[in-house]
Amino acid sequence: MEAHGIKVITGCKVTAIEQASAHLSVHLSGGNHVTADCVMFATGRVPNVTKLGLEKIGVEIAKGGGIAIDEYSRTAVQNIYAVGDVTNRINLTPVAIREGHAFADTVFGRRPTAVDHTNVPTAVFSEPEIGTVGLTESQARARLIQTDIYKAMFKPMKATLSGRATTVLMKLVVDGLSDRVVGCHVVGEGAAEMAQVAAIAVKMGAKKADFDATIALHPTAAEELVTMRKKTASYARQAAE
Ligand SMILES: Cc1cc2nc3c(=O)[nH]c(=O)nc-3n(C[C@H](O)[C@H](O)[C@H](O)COP(=O)(O)OP(=O)(O)OC[C@H]3O[C@@H](n4cnc5c(N)ncnc54)[C@H](O)[C@@H]3O)c2cc1C
Repeated sequence: MEAHGIKVITGCKVTAIEQASAHLSVHLSGGNHVTADCVMFATGRVPNVTKLGLEKIGVEIAKGGGIAIDEYSRTAVQNIYAVGDVTNRINLTPVAIREGHAFADTVFGRRPTAVDHTNVPTAVFSEPEIGTVGLTESQARARLIQTDIYKAMFKPMKATLSGRATTVLMKLVVDGLSDRVVGCHVVGEGAAEMAQVAAIAVKMGAKKADFDATIALHPTAAEELVTMRKKTASYARQAAE
């Protein structure tokens, strides 16, 4: 991002926005300010369920503000189910759709179906793009006895030829004991597309050895996912005190 001229400022808040002639003057905590044409504020999403009168009929609200449900999306009231963003599980379209399918299978198909919310691929459609599936390095280190990291940062061949300032970062997070790839993270062009495909392998429980046994498709950026041979870090979980 910085190579493309974007200034990244972390650890501060927007305290005020003022119209200054044709521009906006954005005041930041710490005394700095930025001049901008437009300000975009990413607020996130929260379930909007407070004024529906749910409590009156016995539907409970969970801690995070979503409707409390069990693994089959059933609320505290036996014949009321809730799916999607209102349940505040993973607030994404394909997840809401899957929860709807599972609800229909459970109630109308008479096949109790719980949605598995693990290994849902996600992306940030910024430039460069971020695509990710599975555990992050820190989540894996907190949960696994041994975590192995394979990381590569490189210029894809097509960028080498065009001379564009673009770099790709890839990281595989591997369970050191079972050899399973538990996380795959990509930053760079095509990262979201890669995360969707890698998600199949991660969901299936593919091992690092399976990635290694897969022959590369050259010259792609994704080939790096199957050619990272050298561990860049290995962590043993610290015993809990
Ligand atoms: C700006 C933005 C960008 C997003 N980008 C992505 C993305 O790139 N990829 C992705 O997977 N997800 C994305 N999402 C998330 C995605 O839109 C939601 O996860 C998804 O729409 C959830 O589906 P849903 O059916 O649970 O809720 P919704 O799609 O919000 O549907 C709820 C419906 O209920 C209606 N409603 C609300 N209150 C009442 C009421 N009292 N009575 C009757 N009807 C009511 C609403 O009008 C709405 O039509 C984005 C969301 C936002 C806001």
